[in-house]
Amino acid sequence: MDPTPLLRVRNLVKRFPIRSGVLSRVTDHVHAVDGVSLDIQAGETLGLVGESGCGKSTTGRCILRLIEPSAGEIWFEGRNVTHLDKRAHRALTRDMQIIFQDPFASLDPRMQVGRIIGEAMVIHRLARNARERQDRVVQLLETVGLHPDHLHRFPHEFSGGQRQRIGIARALAVNPKLIVCDEPVSALDVSIQAQVINLLEDLQQQLGLTYLFIAHDLSVVEHISTRVAVMYLGRIVEVAPSRALYTTPRHPYTEALLSAVPIPDPTVQRKRIVLKGDVPNPIQPPPGCHFHPRCPRAETRCRTETPVLRDMADGHQVACHFPN
Ligand code: SF4
Repeated sequence: MDPTPLLRVRNLVKRFPIRSGVLSRVTDHVHAVDGVSLDIQAGETLGLVGESGCGKSTTGRCILRLIEPSAGEIWFEGRNVTHLDKRAHRALTRDMQIIFQDPFASLDPRMQVGRIIGEAMVIHRLARNARERQDRVVQLLETVGLHPDHLHRFPHEFSGGQRQRIGIARALAVNPKLIVCDEPVSALDVSIQAQVINLLEDLQQQLGLTYLFIAHDLSVVEHISTRVAVMYLGRIVEVAPSRALYTTPRHPYTEALLSAVPIPDPTVQRKRIVLKGDVPNPIQPPPGCHFHPRCPRAETRCRTETPVLRDMADGHQVACHFPN
């Protein structure tokens, strides 16, 4: 049996109400997250991948309770933290932090870098005085590859990659155990992406961090992830150790995503699978398997019966009636 995971999520659901009319009545819901369950062991990186709008960022934000889940449970270090009161939740935010996708939007342009990084240390009373706080901020700047002189500069004076390093330093300021990395490199140039991913890997080694690493591109999470979970329209459709997922995908959607990932070796050919149609409307997701209108292997049963995530072998789980 698995040891108690650092994070356990069970049947997480998030529905966003749609309001209309003069009285702003709720007329429908966007089914953003539709029964997600996952475990993350301490020290591992779980990659969470899917097309934009599939619910992966909403999942990350529900875990941190930046938005309230509609249903489901979240456990951290064996403790149910789904319904903590404000004070207990604030204490928990020390253990769980986030790095946002857009380093341009996530840093207050009016604040100097030292204050941005040190703010959470003030909230959690992690320094005895301003001097101690500043020393710690300088140490954090160096840890993420920035210069101590950057302390008094403003975000607009930095490049995109440097701003993301500031975001990482801000997350590290409270010594978290888990960091939700919400598309942390998607807004960066390809050449900078590798540097930021290498930094996150080094920090994980040094500090024993655990990551939920969200990305829309399978190639981004391949090297950093211990395991990868693939999401489609609010549900996890496949989870596997990273290598197994890339070499022997078992869900047709994962196969299609992988077929679009370029292979660096020109002698290796991979047949591109082009999916028909677009991702369906999450206000009215298709019945049965959400993927059936686009699936090349769909059969009658897929239109009515929802496939559950089943254990195959060696940690590989697939939600499909006809897996590979
Ligand atoms: Fe395709 Fe059916 Fe599997 Fe869904 S359950 S992925 S429609 S084969």
